[in-house]
Amino acid sequence: MVNKLYLVTPRGFCAGVEMAIKALKWLLKVYDQTIYCYHEIVHNKWIVKEFEKKNVVFVEDPKDIPDGAIVMLSAHGTSPSIEKRFNQISSMTINSVCPLVTKVHHEAKKFSNENTQIIYVGHKNHDEAKGALGVSPQNMHIVETIDDVDKLDIGENVALLAQTTLAKSEWEPIMDYSKTKYPDLKMPRKSDLCYATTNRQQAITEILPYVNTVLVVGSDNSSNTQALVKMVNNNDVEVFRIDDVKDIENLKLEGNIAITAGASAPDHIVYEIIEKINPAELENFKPIEEAEYFPLPQQLRANIKNVSNFLSIFNTSESNPKSEYGISNDKKWTATEALNSL
Ligand code: SF4
Repeated sequence: MVNKLYLVTPRGFCAGVEMAIKALKWLLKVYDQTIYCYHEIVHNKWIVKEFEKKNVVFVEDPKDIPDGAIVMLSAHGTSPSIEKRFNQISSMTINSVCPLVTKVHHEAKKFSNENTQIIYVGHKNHDEAKGALGVSPQNMHIVETIDDVDKLDIGENVALLAQTTLAKSEWEPIMDYSKTKYPDLKMPRKSDLCYATTNRQQAITEILPYVNTVLVVGSDNSSNTQALVKMVNNNDVEVFRIDDVKDIENLKLEGNIAITAGASAPDHIVYEIIEKINPAELENFKPIEEAEYFPLPQQLRANIKNVSNFLSIFNTSESNPKSEYGISNDKKWTATEALNSL
């Protein structure tokens, strides 16, 4: 029997994921044809399946799209050479990269232009890391451990960048060691670890003294979900990563537990799990406020505006296509609503 369930906030969709999901929904809404998406739009199995049902095809290589296709590039960022290939084959490529990933790409470009060698702390097989390394493959070096840094022989002119979704426990020891190995180490003024990753980790850390178990909702390829799991594990509290409500069927949950979700996990899954657990008491736990918003990709906004203007010419009914297809209300429209209307 679960006595008390803490529903932790912030959890779930971050501003980058909100933007990418809505951007893909806009493409489906405006163009009546298959949309090709490079990589999973966000790392969540349920969301990917929902989009697949609606004529989105996820690809891992530009050669997998037909000539003239409409393409969306995922939130995790795409290497410039891959983006160029998509641009050559497609009739339109919209890049829904999160602005915080773009920030890391800019930093990589800047350091590379200064002939600085770049250590990039990230997960070798993660889409975000692959995209970032593509910015300057000749002088970027991916590391996952202190040992990897130790083995580097790249001179003294060195900068340190990071994947946005690392656990603090992954990032900080490598940063400290790199500062010792390279006394003149260059780093961005503002941390590469994004606000959403940091806030979710901070919120779950604050609830740990009050619970015996934590449930983290999110898919196994979601880096910030895995970072949350790691964070709890490091504090010797029982933790389970849950994709959907079925995953809790065989768990023996007791006492006080907390539930959170990675930045790409839909909230309805969190509520299905709460309903299934049916705790004696449910308490909201919200130690941090979050209000970030990222606008839709610039090119998509321009396209939607053109389509809206075009449709308004034929507006003979009382409903105004401008308000139906417009983007002025984007801030109020959520990714959850976008997914519900697929
Ligand atoms: S987790 Fe952070 S970097 Fe990734 S999409 Fe969300 S806000 Fe952007």
